[in-house]
Amino acid sequence: MKEESLHEIRHSAAHVLAAAVMRLFPDTKIDIGPATDSGFYYDFDVSHKLTLEDLPKIEQEMKKIIDENQKFECKSVSREEAYTLFSSKNQGYKLERLKDIPEGETVTLYTNGDFTDLCRGPHVSYSKKIKAFKLTSIAGAYFKGNENNKQLQRIYGTAFADKADLEAYLNKIEEAKKRDHRKLGKEMQLFHIDDMVGQGLILWTPNGAIIRQELQNFITEELKKQNYDMVFTPHIGKLDLYRTSGHFPYYKESQFTPIVDGEEMQTLAKEKCCCAELSNRLDEGTLNGFLLKPMNCPMHIKIYDSQPRSYRELPVRLAEFGTVYRWEQSGELNGLTRVRGFTQDDAHLFCTEEQIPAEVGGCLKIVKFILTTLGMNDYRVRIGLRDPNSQKYIGKPENWEKAEEALRQAASTLGVPFSQEPGEAAFYGPKIDFVVKDVLGRDWQLGTVQIDYNLPERFNLSYTGSDNQLHRPVMIHRAPFGSMERFCGVLIEHFGGNFPTWLAPEQVRILPINDDLIAHSQNLAQKMKEMGIRVAVDDHSDKLNAKIRRGELAKVPYMFVIGNKKKETNQVSIRSRINKKMDGSMPVEQILEHIKQEIINRTLPC
Ligand SMILES: [Zn+2]
Ligand SMILES: [Zn+2]
Repeated sequence: MKEESLHEIRHSAAHVLAAAVMRLFPDTKIDIGPATDSGFYYDFDVSHKLTLEDLPKIEQEMKKIIDENQKFECKSVSREEAYTLFSSKNQGYKLERLKDIPEGETVTLYTNGDFTDLCRGPHVSYSKKIKAFKLTSIAGAYFKGNENNKQLQRIYGTAFADKADLEAYLNKIEEAKKRDHRKLGKEMQLFHIDDMVGQGLILWTPNGAIIRQELQNFITEELKKQNYDMVFTPHIGKLDLYRTSGHFPYYKESQFTPIVDGEEMQTLAKEKCCCAELSNRLDEGTLNGFLLKPMNCPMHIKIYDSQPRSYRELPVRLAEFGTVYRWEQSGELNGLTRVRGFTQDDAHLFCTEEQIPAEVGGCLKIVKFILTTLGMNDYRVRIGLRDPNSQKYIGKPENWEKAEEALRQAASTLGVPFSQEPGEAAFYGPKIDFVVKDVLGRDWQLGTVQIDYNLPERFNLSYTGSDNQLHRPVMIHRAPFGSMERFCGVLIEHFGGNFPTWLAPEQVRILPINDDLIAHSQNLAQKMKEMGIRVAVDDHSDKLNAKIRRGELAKVPYMFVIGNKKKETNQVSIRSRINKKMDGSMPVEQILEHIKQEIINRTLPC
């Protein structure tokens, strides 16, 4: 007997869901319900406003249908037959969908029980094959994803081959919810998004700022070891700069509206210029203005180009934690991971053709070291290559070959899996992307290393070679973690808020068991601060248990409990979140030295 695929099970569960909703709410108009990577959904137009409370009732109805062991039957019909059927049932969305089936393609219907759907299948043979399912959420969804259309109600669910798989998946979802960086961000006071500042614009509160600063320090240390030079550039630049680079108006859909020059604006106002005209003039370049920086590259290019360069100086490696701004639709914004302003761990390398392999190798070495230090050992790289059949690429084919080979070489030395994906290169050069798997097994696409033959051309960059002639450098863009915002979001979820000591906003909390010990605790705290340890004293007047509970909620790596006796012997009782072996009493000097080492070595929690 044939093995039912997960896809068939999920798609069939979607049909059962639709059948159940139609039984419960007979006025329901159905749209479509496909299987997805993690389950299935179905879109409904139903006068009843669906809420989470409805889901158990719908699940029950689905169980009934499954127990009826309905057969899934496929039937090819003519367009007219399908049209007559769905119009007799007053199913307008189905008629719309029917129109979208290309002429000449067979129209098929799937029926189980009294439910019939316009559908290509495939499905399970009988409804009892759906052994483990669960409805998970409800959301609004525009018909055909177009916001000018009516908003329908979407029910999401998931289904697996058996109960154990379903259980494992639901547990994973539960764990993901606990680790959600938006939730932890609030609880641990890491960042804030304020409507008055603007959606998608991150306010790093003191705790989160510590994490970001520590990460930036760490990355900077590594960059300096590889002879990068740090630079700073402004947040806005003239439109002409981005016209030359090609970022404007080509990518203007994903950029903030340009800022028009003040004097020009006055003239425009006198002329009573309309918005459409203003926009046109900006596009065609007859009006000057500034752009909120969408990319750091053109500014780094201008730093490279601010003096004549000799081959002896190459590679020139310019690095900046550069903040850029992109216009994301408000519906797409999500905590730290989809934002409108973010800081790239950006750098641009200007080098000769021959230097590409070593430079790419260096980039990957840093990434590997940083990911290993953070305990993110499960990652892979994707190499984006040319599509051999396309003419859209600029630069000489022999250079492309060399660059692609350089990326392959560099990737193979990493000792992690890599895939090669033809057609995934940009038109101006091949690239490497990093994909990290977190502890929950979720993939996070981080940043890239990208070879670029285009911008040096557009900005007419040069260096003087050993032959005393001018040559064109090659440029490498690299922002391996993508953005500090996104990367911190990933890290919060990866650690579930339990940061290693070096990243923890508060590394030690001192808990005096009574108010008489507060002064002593504060003296100890001061001494620790001078050693560079981030420490706080819990001087609330409540019981020790309450203090411990607060420390645990704040996920502080170490708690020092100070009692009268301990004070006399200069010892502390330790509760360690990081290293259970450390629990117990210890002389102060000894534990402080241990924590100090843990911070310097960036030790992972064990
Ligand atoms: Zn279907
Ligand atoms: Zn760049």
